[in-house]
Order: sequence, then structure tokens, then C-alpha cells
Amino acid sequence: MYIIEKAPAKINLTLDVLYKRPDQYHEVEMVMTTVDLADRLEFFLLEEDKIEIASDNRFVPNDERNLAYRAAKLLKDRYQIKQGVRIKIDKQIPVAAGLAGGSSDAAATFRGLNRLWDLDISLDDLAVLGAEIGSDVSFCVYNSTALAKGRGENITELPAPPQCWVVLAKPVQGVSTQSVYQSLKLNDIEHPDTEGMVHAIQEGDYQGVCHRLKNVLEAVTLPKKPEVTQIKNQMLQSGADAVLMSGSGPTVFALVQQETRADRIYNSLRGFCDEVYVVRLLGSQQKLD
Ligand code: ATP
Repeated sequence: MYIIEKAPAKINLTLDVLYKRPDQYHEVEMVMTTVDLADRLEFFLLEEDKIEIASDNRFVPNDERNLAYRAAKLLKDRYQIKQGVRIKIDKQIPVAAGLAGGSSDAAATFRGLNRLWDLDISLDDLAVLGAEIGSDVSFCVYNSTALAKGRGENITELPAPPQCWVVLAKPVQGVSTQSVYQSLKLNDIEHPDTEGMVHAIQEGDYQGVCHRLKNVLEAVTLPKKPEVTQIKNQMLQSGADAVLMSGSGPTVFALVQQETRADRIYNSLRGFCDEVYVVRLLGSQQKLD
């Protein structure tokens, strides 16, 4: 018996850092949404009490460092499951890209094993468990659009943003999320209008969403990776309505309403950037095929 679960990527429409907490985590406020670029995970029941990870992507660890492994281990321990599982990860989301690929795999593992092991855990409870694995896992449990606070685990779901095309472009080298946060100068932050973004989404105001795209981590990553600015400029010249770096980067995304413009942006980046994708917003808790 086996189960299939998709693990879609997320993008940040806003990312704000408020302060550094005594526990050393940063207090953040982020509006995030989900796009239909997804890893595909297969879960095979094993009678033997073990967790196996198989992935053919050389950047993805096949052991306990994998976030999917950690999600499976957490569920096994918490619910005293004696059966084992083999998790096959078909990686489509670029790694270390600011698209929460690892976190989404962990969330998909929760959802998949919830079904495989017949645990009947609610999404809200899985989201609480997710915070033990990583700050973005709780958001990824829902595959939706949300305002995330705290260190990212405090989730308020929002309606789907106005539908549009999203062009994602990932420069060759990834970045370490931890080092980006460490280099952020907290006294020198131009904060996004998070409340305005939430309002624009609630009103279905596409232009309002475009005007309020803002990520404070660009201040760290852009000077270190000039190609990120080059890609942003290229996207704008090719007709993007708005562009932003997602998460700690280096992936940049463009929003556009017309498919022909999305194609134009895609074509303009060929040869300039290897990993480019044209995708749709997934909206709120929509199922992937
Ligand atoms: P975030 O936006 O949440 O900071 P990211 O998109 O920048 O994440 P990931 O793709 O999640 O980064 O990968 C970051 C690191 O996590 C990788 O370098 C990899 O070694 C490790 N990792 C662990 N599990 C996974 C997984 N299932 N898929 C991808 N990377 C994983």
C-alpha cells in the first residue's frame, strides 16, 4: 500500500523582521502564499520499524537531516507507531531557494503519514507539531495563503490572492537562510505594509498586492548576489507587474496577469538563469492534481 502527497512551494508577498527574541529567533511577520510548483512524495508502508528516505537530488540528504525524515520520526514517536515507512521524494522545487521546499516536504509527510497510518490528526494539530521541525512547516501544512507571525508558526489563514501568473527564477547558487538572518541589520529596516497587504488580499485588489510586495531580507541578499537584481530588472523590463525575492532568496518571482507576458518574461530569462518556471497561485487549501 502506498500514498502520494504533493508538497508545493511557497512565496513571500511580504517578509518583515520585527526584532530578535531572547530565544535568539527573529520575530517575523510574513504574508505567504502557495504556488503550483511541487515536489511529489510517495509513502510506502514497511512492516519493519524504520524510516527510509529516497531522493535522486544530490542536494537533498537521505538521512535524519532530511526534514521529511524528521517529520516521520516525530509522528512515530508521538503516536507510538511501530510500522515503518519508505518516503520517495521526487524533487521539483529548487533547493535552498527561499521557496520552503524542505518545510513543504515535512508538511506533506505529516499529511501523507496521517493517512497511511490512519492517525486522524487535524490540520491544526499537524501545524502545531510542524513548529517543532521548522518555522515554515506550520504554514506548509495548510497549502494556502496566510499571515504568519511569531517565528513563522503562528498562522492566520487568508483568502486566496487575486489569481495571476507567477514566474519564478532561481539563480544558480542557493543561500543559507541562517546566514542571511544573521547578517540582517535590525536598526536599519524599512518595514513592509503588512496590514495593507492583508487588506489588499481580502479585497481582491491585485494592484494593491503588487504595490505592497516587500521583503526586508533583500537588503542582505541583493548586495551579495548581483544576479538577483539583474533578474528583477529583466523581469520588469519584460512586463512584470511587480517583482520580489522570496524568503531569504535567491529565488525571484514576478507577478503578471496575462499569460503572454509570463511567457515573455520566461523567454527573456533563458540563457540568463537556468531554473525558470511559470506557475499559478494555488489559492487557499486547493488540492493539487
Ligand atoms: P526556507 O525558505 O524555508 O528557508 P529554503 O527553500 O531556502 O527554505 P530548502 O530547499 O528547504 O531551503 O533547503 C535548505 C536545506 O535543507 C538544504 O540545503 C538541504 O540540505 C536541507 N534539507 C533537508 N530536507 C530537505 C528536503 N526534503 N528538501 C530540500 N532540502 C532539504
